[in-house]
Amino acid sequence: MSTPLAPQSPCLVIEDLVKIFEHHTVLNGINLTVDTHQVVTLIGPSGSGKSTLLKCINLLERPDRGRILFYGQDVTAPGEDENLARRRMGMVFQSWNLFGHLNLLDNVTLGARKAHGMPKEEANEKAHMLLKRVGLADKATAWPDQVSGGQAQRVAICRALITDPELLLLDEVTSALDPELVGEVLGVIRELAEDGMTMVLATHEMGFARDVSDQVAFLHDGVVLEQGPPEMIFTEPTQPRTRQFLRRLIEARRI
Ligand code: ADP
Ligand code: MG
Repeated sequence: MSTPLAPQSPCLVIEDLVKIFEHHTVLNGINLTVDTHQVVTLIGPSGSGKSTLLKCINLLERPDRGRILFYGQDVTAPGEDENLARRRMGMVFQSWNLFGHLNLLDNVTLGARKAHGMPKEEANEKAHMLLKRVGLADKATAWPDQVSGGQAQRVAICRALITDPELLLLDEVTSALDPELVGEVLGVIRELAEDGMTMVLATHEMGFARDVSDQVAFLHDGVVLEQGPPEMIFTEPTQPRTRQFLRRLIEARRI
């Protein structure tokens, strides 16, 4: 739990967010608040809109309606600098997509240097520190094809952290990993939570969600159907849809 640091003002306030692809309304009025130093986990069936919501938050997708306030600033407002918002948010995806022709250190630094103009020395210094933090101090000069999926995903987390983001977005970051490698990536996320990193994450790892989250939001058909502390969502959800979703996971032995 990320509670040793007292929550302050909200990091993120999402108001009535709508996203339509073609004629398909994928997000249908999302309201969600994320307090600073909190971990908010998005759960819900496949297709409920978790990834789209995460991508709207850092403007990889443009919402059609609604507002996203990031420390009070509406990042969706016309004329807002998208790169500024993105620099202040980090994102990690299911597939780590490291560049095969770059060593791990350069994979961590490339985006910060190219997109945000971070000087090479500063970037290298930070990258070494981050690789050490995730247990990969000795892998800086290794190539992506020389490391495991769990190690590659930890590198992707470093890549997201190098700009000192104030918010980290994580989309199913363990879904592509062999089961024995899931724990090492979840361990890194848990440490980030303990250090007070504000995070919004989508995951199918319900045990982890229960353990690390301050709030869990259940998405269904593009709305937050139910939100609350994990002990409430996982033990006494009020919505039949949430109960059904959890029951299916239990039947599939995913909880
Ligand atoms: P989740 O992450 O919860 O599985 P997604 O946000 O990926 O859900 O998808 C929600 C819905 O939006 C799905 O029906 C998906 O097919 C649709 N969708 C996602 N991205 C696009 C896109 N770029 N174009 C059209 N439809 C999309
Ligand atoms: Mg998804």
